[in-house]
Amino acid sequence: MSHPTLAKGFVNNKPRAQWHDKALWFVREKRDRMAHGVPEWEELRQQASAIKIHTMSQLPNYLEQFEKNAKALGVHVHWAIDGDEHNRIVHEILQQHNVKRVVKSKSMLTEECHLNPFLEKNGYEVVDTDLGERIVQLRNEPPSHIVLPAIHIKKEEVGECFHEHLGTEKGASDPNYLTEAARNHLRERFCSADAGITGVNFALAETGGFVVCTNEGNADLGVSLPKLHIACMGIEKLLPRASDLAVFLRLLARSATGQPITTYSSHFHGPREGSEMHIVLVDNGRSGILQSPEFRRSLNCIRCGACMNTCPVYRRSGGHSYESAVPGPIGSILTPLKTPESHSSLPFACSLCGSCTDVCPVKIDLHHQLLAMRGFLDRKKLLGMSKKLSMKFVSGLLSHKWMYTTAGSAARTALRWLPRFAVYNPLNGWGKQRELPEPPKSSFRDQYAAHKKQSGDKS
Ligand code: SF4
Repeated sequence: MSHPTLAKGFVNNKPRAQWHDKALWFVREKRDRMAHGVPEWEELRQQASAIKIHTMSQLPNYLEQFEKNAKALGVHVHWAIDGDEHNRIVHEILQQHNVKRVVKSKSMLTEECHLNPFLEKNGYEVVDTDLGERIVQLRNEPPSHIVLPAIHIKKEEVGECFHEHLGTEKGASDPNYLTEAARNHLRERFCSADAGITGVNFALAETGGFVVCTNEGNADLGVSLPKLHIACMGIEKLLPRASDLAVFLRLLARSATGQPITTYSSHFHGPREGSEMHIVLVDNGRSGILQSPEFRRSLNCIRCGACMNTCPVYRRSGGHSYESAVPGPIGSILTPLKTPESHSSLPFACSLCGSCTDVCPVKIDLHHQLLAMRGFLDRKKLLGMSKKLSMKFVSGLLSHKWMYTTAGSAARTALRWLPRFAVYNPLNGWGKQRELPEPPKSSFRDQYAAHKKQSGDKS
């Protein structure tokens, strides 16, 4: 389904759409305050971008270095070409250890590979231990945001969900009460788990270690109690040196939630005594993106979510309208790269305002890539006829000054006299969610000339 179709339900629920918009803008403002508090912020972004570009240019070498060093630490390293192979590998490891119950900390890669439904189909109990992830898991829906997976759900709805699944009091919506209930529920699952699965925020080629960032400490607890830890990692998560972490850890939490640092930045360097550690390195289309000069920079993403929090379309249409593990501006590039036929509407869910590019901590030129993606889809002949014709018409209009001026003047006059029905009717989708401002009496060009004349400016 297209993005506008999927967004319809969310947009039609005006109070939710407005509240979602405000909640994410609040996070964006927190991010701004944090960024402004670091005088060298722009240097950090520049450095992070340079490190990522360098790493991607040498990715095969760094991956081999990582594998060698991780093995030396006693880690079992696996390679998966796609999501299916990743799921098979995880399943085999769990089988070898006779695992029945798994606790999992937040990992967008496992969402991308649909690991949970796969494991559940094979008879495992899989519990997401991040609070937001657990809420969406209990509601049987996907996360709507990569950092704030349950941002679209109100506390009253969480209360209903917990009443149904965890037996909390009916009608309870106090966040402290609900969090306490979730804590007790998860504690039991942590204590009875046979294996812990985590994602990876950063892996270090130099040492073979990796870092997992959480705010709830659930990754630590999930892998400290069971004797088996499986870490699932996209191959782009690599950094060359341990010292690079100093740059990325400062950028990640500030960009994501406006915190100086995530509450837990857990460093893993090999298994604990008596336990086993596996890492699954997953390609799933990444090496194809790496070969594309146009889109390879999208692999530099550190999944902070800042581009989503600032995106006016994402904030108003909600994460589920992207039908992808990674929604928002970066998802609108990564997803159509993998499945262009089913996600060709995503790069058009964008006003090209460039706000995503401004906040991205690794300086990905997101809005340029979104524009390039439209061309990519056009070359693949995936744009509908109405889109192509309207773009051709606008292109002709904007390329001829006299046509543009005449059309502008005609529209200004017509909009003053036409009945409201002419714009706001069922045939004009544009008018469904928007209200035009009062048309000005003259064009900007005329107003500018008049202003100059009045002020005596001869230039
Ligand atoms: S593209 Fe940039 S802003 Fe968006 S999630 Fe990735 S790192 Fe964050």
